[in-house]
Amino acid sequence: MKRALCWIRRDLRLHDHRALARACEMADEVAVVFVFDTTILGALEDRDDKRLVFIHRSLEELNGKLGGRLVVRHGDPVEEIPRLAREWRAEVVVAAQDFEASAIARDLAVSREVSLELVTDHVVLPGDSVLNQQGLPFRVFTPYSKGWRSRVSELDLAASEADLSKLSRVVPPSVSWSLGDLGFQDAELWLGAGEDAGRARLAAFRADRYAEERDFPALNATSGLSVHLRFGTVSVREAFAHAAGHAKWETELIWREFYSMLLSQFPEVETGPFQAHYRGMVWPGDPAHYKVWEAGQTGYPIVDAAMRCLNQTGWMHNRLRMIVASFLTKDLLLDYRLGEAWFARKLLDFDLASNVGGWQWAASVGCDAQPYFRIFNPYLQSRKFDPEGVFIREWVPELASLDATEIHDPGPLLRGDYPMPMVSHEVMRDKAVAFLGSFQAKA
Ligand code: FAD
Repeated sequence: MKRALCWIRRDLRLHDHRALARACEMADEVAVVFVFDTTILGALEDRDDKRLVFIHRSLEELNGKLGGRLVVRHGDPVEEIPRLAREWRAEVVVAAQDFEASAIARDLAVSREVSLELVTDHVVLPGDSVLNQQGLPFRVFTPYSKGWRSRVSELDLAASEADLSKLSRVVPPSVSWSLGDLGFQDAELWLGAGEDAGRARLAAFRADRYAEERDFPALNATSGLSVHLRFGTVSVREAFAHAAGHAKWETELIWREFYSMLLSQFPEVETGPFQAHYRGMVWPGDPAHYKVWEAGQTGYPIVDAAMRCLNQTGWMHNRLRMIVASFLTKDLLLDYRLGEAWFARKLLDFDLASNVGGWQWAASVGCDAQPYFRIFNPYLQSRKFDPEGVFIREWVPELASLDATEIHDPGPLLRGDYPMPMVSHEVMRDKAVAFLGSFQAKA
């Protein structure tokens, strides 16, 4: 009787689950295990961290689907997984591959103690499988996406359904795992957690309207699936199936694959710019400005609305992420890593690869990034993408009575308690072009 453990991490679902399908294929009896990793939990700064609440609710749902037989442990997986495998006499542990350096190190350490098989699940194509004609990783998105599309096969996109009759009736005991037991507290989430909510969101998503409406935060026309893709409550293959015939949305899913590829092939981007000539640069902005940006008190309504939305809900629309990231790096000339760290703390969909990629793109220091001389004007962005000021009014109530002509850039008499712009965009734009341009000679 061969036993396998299916160790779930970023794949908190049952449907189209590659690791579970593989475990059920290999073994006669399978137990599904999740470890609340103390090395990760211990580093979280907020006791009401929304990510943990999302994971917890998703696991509760999964446990229900498994008839209460989800095995939950709390500790360092490098110790917990081998211990559990020994206790239960599992010959093999199956999990989905994770491309973050800390996860790679963790899995390597586990594999020294127990047979660990990793399968591809979090992305459709792992980073080393889409290469250019020289056999090297792509450095520009458009050729990468062409390469991705020509390389992907039906098999890569096929759903894998596990033979759930292999799930063992008797499994090792779990620890108590209420949020309180884990040292955390409940929090409000802007979207439903778990596989059922994720699949319902995907089914309801209007990919046909996406290309036209995606850039307008007040329309809520993007899928909101990044959270579900992050935690694997929706399978990325199922998302690609939904994208069929909607090239724009499919391209966004390929951006996610691109950034995952970059992190796996160029792990140094986790800590510094992709473009070597920017490494070691010292951003000249005033450090005291950072907290003003973080709190949404810059005096630029669209920037403040976006930051306040993030701080309260854990969500920010993509257009707004680009605007606030550009503002921090180009209008305040502050190190993009400050903003990256704040997003990492606050975003419910925080994903190391996409966050690093998005920040380096906006700061113009990344792979295939925004050219350094093309700088977002926050007023023009605001007028174009929130033309009636609907989004601003929701998050900056001080300005709620202003009309669409006034709200993007209110004069001093219209601001009331709302602060004046903390810097002049025109002045800072010129400084940013000069500062970033000074590195071009080294390129
Ligand atoms: P949709 O527009 O519906 O797109 C579908 C899916 O495609 C998304 O769920 C996401 O998985 C993927 N996707 C879309 N745009 C991008 C992109 N530019 N890069 C990578 N994947 C993309 N995304 C994260 O998932 N986690 C992050 O931590 C993150 N940080 C970011 C930081 C900055 C500064 C910027 C500019 C972007 C960041 N993004 C991040 C990318 C993007 O903003 C979000 O994926 C998107 O807003 C999620 O909304 P959605 O699910 O409605 O996306």
